[in-house]
Amino acid sequence: MTPDSVRPEPGTILTLEQVEPEATYYGVRVAACEDGEPLLAIGTHDLRRVIAAWSRYLREFCGETLRDYLSLCVPDCTAPWCNRYDCRTLRSTIDRPGWLVFRAPDPAKDQDPEYAWYFEVADADTLGAIPVVSV
Ligand SMILES: [Zn+2]
Repeated sequence: MTPDSVRPEPGTILTLEQVEPEATYYGVRVAACEDGEPLLAIGTHDLRRVIAAWSRYLREFCGETLRDYLSLCVPDCTAPWCNRYDCRTLRSTIDRPGWLVFRAPDPAKDQDPEYAWYFEVADADTLGAIPVVSV
């Protein structure tokens, strides 16, 4: 827990270094939001590193593989539903790489000050935008 004295002001745009992840692997900051929310890889669009970081994060924190976590099809899948609509693959599951602006929580906007950060969807040229891949 960071002491209040060095926490950024509420609503401040955070730099990549200020976005506290749950873990960092291969230089990729990984965070899973609440249940049912996306798994985030923060600070890169390099899918090879992202997938490696997610795999390690899930193994260490959840004891499962990326394949199980995302309910991906097995190689040579023969499920009838898949034959018709295509298999659930990593490529079809990962969201398009995007950009987010992370901010310190602002209680004036009903945000929980206990949270490390909040984020908003952004564009590449938005001030403070950080590359993110989510699934
Ligand atoms: Zn399948």
